[in-house]
Amino acid sequence: MRTTGERMKKQPTPPEIIARFKTTEEALALDIDHGIPPPDKQLEISNFLENFNGKGTTNPDYILKKTYEYIDLLMDLSVNKHAVCSRGCAHCCKIKVDMLEVEALYIQLHTKFMVKKKQRDTSGYCPLLNKKTGDCRIYKYRPAPCRIFTTVDNPKYWAQGPDVNHAIFSVHSFQSEEGKKSVISYLLDVLDTLEANYQRTKDIKIQDLRYYFSKK
Ligand code: SF4
Repeated sequence: MRTTGERMKKQPTPPEIIARFKTTEEALALDIDHGIPPPDKQLEISNFLENFNGKGTTNPDYILKKTYEYIDLLMDLSVNKHAVCSRGCAHCCKIKVDMLEVEALYIQLHTKFMVKKKQRDTSGYCPLLNKKTGDCRIYKYRPAPCRIFTTVDNPKYWAQGPDVNHAIFSVHSFQSEEGKKSVISYLLDVLDTLEANYQRTKDIKIQDLRYYFSKK
């Protein structure tokens, strides 16, 4: 998830978080979802979603590139300010990665990994993880779930390897109030639009990443 790759390198250690997060409940009580995106970005994202709606199959390469760009931006404006993720920790890469087929094809288009659909064991590490280094081998092209799961627990567990247990949260956990316009509400709109368009047009079930890819 957000624990691998170059954007992880410069994650400051906000001292107040070390003091605050002793339990999961305390982490979730954090007021992460405050503020709204800058006006120019609000407009840009709204226009993008309006144009994208109902046109899920139109240039998926462009749509996914922009969708991921907005997810990353909105995560950086909210949850990522509080995340304690760091490079080398791949704890999130053990959980299920429910993704759209179009996201698997996007990875195939941009990396050496080929889609080979097959029901596989969905437990254990993601086949696209470099287990030795904890790096994601397709970081730039990773699917939406890998961008929205994070941990905000105790930073003393930073980068202690993939086997350290962290409390993992999806961005959905941090929405302050349903119906309120906020950074996270924009982010959820982006995710919902992606899912709604590609599910409706392709009529396919969302599958775990391991359905599309194996280690080889
Ligand atoms: S694609 Fe796999 S290795 Fe990469 S971030 Fe997602 S779960 Fe981790």
